[in-house]
Amino acid sequence: MGVTDNLDFERIDAQRGFEITARVDEVPIETPYGDKPLGRTGILTTAHGQIETPAFIPVGTLANVKGVLPEMMEDLGAQALLANAYHLYLTPGADIVDEAGGLGKFMNWEKPTYTDSGGFQVLSLGSGYKKVLSQEFSGQKPTAEQEAKEAVKRSRKSVDEDGVVFRSHHDGTKHRFNPEISLKIQHQLGADIMFAFDELTSLLHPYDYQVESLARTHRWAQRSLDAHWKLTAEQPERPYQQLFGVLQGAQFENLRRETARTLREMEFEGQGFDGYGLGGALEKENLGTIVSWLTSELPEEKPRHLLGISEPDDFFRAIEVGADTFDCVNPSRVARNAAIYTPDGRVNITNARFKRKFEPMVAGCGCYTCTHYTTAYVHHLFKTKEILASTLATIHNEWFTVHLVDTIREAIKNREYLACKEEVLGRFYSKKG
Ligand SMILES: [Zn+2]
Repeated sequence: MGVTDNLDFERIDAQRGFEITARVDEVPIETPYGDKPLGRTGILTTAHGQIETPAFIPVGTLANVKGVLPEMMEDLGAQALLANAYHLYLTPGADIVDEAGGLGKFMNWEKPTYTDSGGFQVLSLGSGYKKVLSQEFSGQKPTAEQEAKEAVKRSRKSVDEDGVVFRSHHDGTKHRFNPEISLKIQHQLGADIMFAFDELTSLLHPYDYQVESLARTHRWAQRSLDAHWKLTAEQPERPYQQLFGVLQGAQFENLRRETARTLREMEFEGQGFDGYGLGGALEKENLGTIVSWLTSELPEEKPRHLLGISEPDDFFRAIEVGADTFDCVNPSRVARNAAIYTPDGRVNITNARFKRKFEPMVAGCGCYTCTHYTTAYVHHLFKTKEILASTLATIHNEWFTVHLVDTIREAIKNREYLACKEEVLGRFYSKKG
């Protein structure tokens, strides 16, 4: 008897799935594969409703977007929120979120939710990964060879075949994450979309380490899939949580293609991944090319989430080659530092020229901040370090980012994608704002 025999797949299938509604086929988009249209719009179904794609998914690391009510996130157009498994595991604990009825109930958010696997955070926060260079080579610039060696040394200290050992960034206590633990935590958190546990490498890691790491990430992907269905079968009455496989492979075309083919075929009792996370180190210049290597290998009828982008040019690059959803902490993080997104680029709202600007931060912006408050008021709140400053700035930046991706989606549907791209990017990067 199989693990999934007790599951009602009719119910599960009603709580997952992806339907393509339009394609970026207005004119050929230049990809390494000629004019095959990779970009699309679609509808992603979850247990807590549908997401129209492409869509930007704001990040609420600790089950909240800092300084903004979940209700306000809904008002500003967010279709889903993404929280971090690593952070919620440390505080308050995945068991507490579970007892609260899951992430959505815990934070009074009725729409779809995502959690990441924790893989990125355990390696970037928990093992001092980002500090590699500053610590080891203070004073002198390391050679490429030294950098590569150091990156591998760091990885070997925390990563083994089973998983990753890391220290809590709160109190230094030691913890282990592996595919089974990550999936257990993510099932307790109860998000609609979860990610397989993977190893994060950097562009500094040499090719032979990338090969070794990718093979391990594939074994972890299979373990994640196995653990996911066992956990699903243990509590068959719960809303179905989808599992996305994560594609690594850094900047190497053969590795990126290989990982897409491997995860495309992976299954547990006939069940493959519900979608895919496009992960790992991506150089901005090559973002579109690398994403196209993956999306041209992946099944069309499954959604793809690109982890960690928020710049307008990155959205266009990724969307036209078939990425469907995106998340990033940047719109809220930079808002707390007074950086405001405008159609003419980013501005710092503490600049003296805004002291007497009794008009919205962005003329015509439909966000709550711009429709109710003046630039001078937000400027004043930042100057006096009031908490409300972060709230008003975050509402604007999240609205701007969510609506930018919404605008691209509507442009694809109306076959105005290229005109939209030219107008948005021409203005944003013209530096006249
Ligand atoms: Zn606004």
